[in-house]
Amino acid sequence: MINKTKWAIKETKLRISYMTSRECIFCKIIKGQIKSKLLKETGKVIAFNDINPIASVHILIVPKKHIESVSAINTSDGGDLVEMFDVATELASKNKLDAYRISFNAGHYQHVPHLHMHLLAGDKIQWSKL
Ligand code: 5GP
Ligand code: ZN
Repeated sequence: MINKTKWAIKETKLRISYMTSRECIFCKIIKGQIKSKLLKETGKVIAFNDINPIASVHILIVPKKHIESVSAINTSDGGDLVEMFDVATELASKNKLDAYRISFNAGHYQHVPHLHMHLLAGDKIQWSKL
């Protein structure tokens, strides 16, 4: 069970850090400037656990290429997207997930301006927080 108050405090701190950081947080993780335990790395993609999860499984799958959002995707990004979905399938299988959801946020639902896929599983997905 996710503690709502603790989650909200952490989320507020994270959102302040996105607004005040001059460089994209996910690009910093990709460059190793922010330490993060990677669950998977391929030529085009990294995957790691979300720092403030909304479900018992909450993995972020991120292209190494800085694509701003789903609305900025173009045909040259096809290989990056396929690799993101391949990594999702692999991690779902590795974690023995028989059911899972994939979500992308855009507009005001998106807080980190670097394309990322949320891979979510478990019976307590807190959709209102995503
Ligand atoms: P968005 O709201 O942009 O779709 O989702 C951004 C997600 O990135 C949030 O779920 C947030 O908890 C996660 N996140 C933000 N900063 C970090 C970080 O430094 N490390 C990790 N592992 N996750 C982060
Ligand atoms: Zn970036």
